[in-house]
Amino acid sequence: MTISIQRCQSCGTFNYPAHAVCGNCLSDALADCAIEGRGVLLALSTVHHSLDPEWRAHLPVQLATVDLDCGVQVICFAEPGLQTPARVCLAPSQDRPGVWIARAQDA
Ligand SMILES: [Zn+2]
Repeated sequence: MTISIQRCQSCGTFNYPAHAVCGNCLSDALADCAIEGRGVLLALSTVHHSLDPEWRAHLPVQLATVDLDCGVQVICFAEPGLQTPARVCLAPSQDRPGVWIARAQDA
């Protein structure tokens, strides 16, 4: 599956999170780029508490830090059972109607 990451059209640097100008060369020629969301799972953490009543029904939630092959690190949700270090891929998933998120899963 592919995910969309902002990429500078001048120098090719991927920017995550998206910026108004490139973090490397300050160009404003930026566009979303579809990439294979593959990388290395660096860290996992589990969220047990939330102040948002909508989230309480879904706890605990596992979060992952993933170093993508394109050179950026992202924080996303994680499938249960993952352990570090591991090769993972990110897949889009829907956490609530209309809200799409990335989820790390076994590569
Ligand atoms: Zn740039």
